Amino acid sequence: MIFKLKGTFQHYDWGGESFIPNWLKLKETEDKPYAEYWLGAHRLAPSLIEFEGQWLELDRVLDKAPKLLGEKSQGKFGDELPFLLKILDVKSPISIQIHPTAAEAKLGYEQEDEMGIPLTAYNRVYKDHNHKAEMMIALSDFWLLHGFRTEANIVETLRERESLKQLANHIERRSLASVYAEIMQADQSQLAEWLLPIIHSKREDYQQGKLKLDDPDYWVLFSMDSLQISEDKLDAGLVCFYLFNIVHLEKGESVYQGAGFPHAYLRGQSIELMANSDNIIRGGLTKKYVNIPALLNTIDYREITPKIIPAYEGDEPLYLYPTSEIDDFVMQRFEFKPFDEEKFTATSATILLVMSGSLYIDLGDDSIYLQQGEAAFISADSEVDIIGETDGYAVIATLPCE
Ligand SMILES: [Zn+2]
Repeated sequence: MIFKLKGTFQHYDWGGESFIPNWLKLKETEDKPYAEYWLGAHRLAPSLIEFEGQWLELDRVLDKAPKLLGEKSQGKFGDELPFLLKILDVKSPISIQIHPTAAEAKLGYEQEDEMGIPLTAYNRVYKDHNHKAEMMIALSDFWLLHGFRTEANIVETLRERESLKQLANHIERRSLASVYAEIMQADQSQLAEWLLPIIHSKREDYQQGKLKLDDPDYWVLFSMDSLQISEDKLDAGLVCFYLFNIVHLEKGESVYQGAGFPHAYLRGQSIELMANSDNIIRGGLTKKYVNIPALLNTIDYREITPKIIPAYEGDEPLYLYPTSEIDDFVMQRFEFKPFDEEKFTATSATILLVMSGSLYIDLGDDSIYLQQGEAAFISADSEVDIIGETDGYAVIATLPCE
């Protein structure tokens, strides 16, 4: 079966105002940032599916008819849709974060339960038993922090700045892990000693557009401005620009982020597909709760060279993004032209989102028409024909079919 699917908005502070409403061609908008558009069955903000002329919440529908998910999905992930598909419009940096492995999540969840911390509490970290692997595809130039740089690069970067030289020496004498812990627990006067000389000496260059975008100083000043961080309330996350890889994705490029890797989205628009979890361990650039022990316990200090998945330029109509480490989701891209027809077999519940152009999804006696921004929920064991009406492309979120 196929159903039209309507997503939900998240109006987080860091979101931009116009990208999502323009892309969805919304006629009326609220006077709020449109940060995220969610397609999925997350209990906090389930999408709506159209059933016999009525719009129903997808999580409730799946509660009543879990068979729509398919046997394989139910066997592995229970009666929940295992993934969540999002469109993001990042105007100012989102908190630095890591996501636990499933084993860490389970343990953390049980410990917090034993400690009597309610699920909705400010200081609750583990909200479910799941890991939260995620992948994203850039829809514009996109900037993010992604894992630790090599130690040699960190030391060199720190040493180039007088006020951070001491940290470079500490790394050489001790270890990156212990210096990271020192940074994350530093008090205001220490943060001021490290950061204020840079902020003061680089502000003018920043304002005149003289700093390069791969220069960590640029992002320190950009974050101070866009997150309205005052000089007497510095955030330890600002120091992390000197420790983590600053990655630039061009439109169409994508990246996968597994458990334990620190990351932060800094600016740009993207499609994101993730495991259905809300387990976020924050590590700065945030006013939200930062649980230092949980952070130090789960963070992966390995130096990484970011693996950027190039924009697809082949001529296969259905392209599968390589995210083979996990089995909670896969992302496919369907590129179409008028009258292009492609068979798609949903072995488990699938979400198809039209990113541009328009198409038909045909299931024999059932057919729906979708334009840019519109989506469909395709239940398990459906075989459909996707037929292009114009030039365009769609993304398809589903489970890997092994
Ligand atoms: Zn994340």
